[in-house]
Amino acid sequence: MSNLTLSPDALKALVRTVPDFPEPGIQFRDITTLIGHGKGLAASVHYLSELAKANGAQKIAGMEARGFIFGAAVAVHMGIGFLPVRKPGKLPITTIGVDYALEYGTDRLEIDPSAISDGERVVIVDDLIATGGTALASAQLLRQAGARVDHAIFVIDLPDLGGAERLREANVDVCALMSFEGE
Ligand code: AMP
Repeated sequence: MSNLTLSPDALKALVRTVPDFPEPGIQFRDITTLIGHGKGLAASVHYLSELAKANGAQKIAGMEARGFIFGAAVAVHMGIGFLPVRKPGKLPITTIGVDYALEYGTDRLEIDPSAISDGERVVIVDDLIATGGTALASAQLLRQAGARVDHAIFVIDLPDLGGAERLREANVDVCALMSFEGE
């Protein structure tokens, strides 16, 4: 490991934990402090890019908004394209979308279907996997557009919420740079 690259443990120490946000009982894992640290951001992108390379990524997809930060940086690092998975109504063309359940209510994600060639290997990048609902909906949408989606990579996994397990059941393999116990 080069002395320019922080260890995964050092990266974990850069994530700020904010108790009871956005509601009581939730430990919010805040990456603002990680991305505000030059070497922390660079090392995160380095490790994520190594995983994306090992997974044969031909394109990176990142979810609005924090997935854009890491996903776009990984795409630049690898010299491949980035595909934004957007919140509804943001793209100026005819989109395809998927509605998915949240704890309370539903949400929707949309992509430009022409952004993917048939069989293209797309790796999903996001900051954090909790229940896996967002990543699973993204994988479904990307597959609907013709992508091959076998891998999703995250900075943080919250394994107690079962998201990684849920994705594996949908044949999406999950890797993360660090994990935190609890919600
Ligand atoms: P999920 O769909 O449940 O896997 O959650 C996906 C998104 O919710 C992640 O990309 C995070 O941005 C956000 N999120 C969920 N739980 C947390 C948490 N404890 N701390 C920070 N962000 C969270």
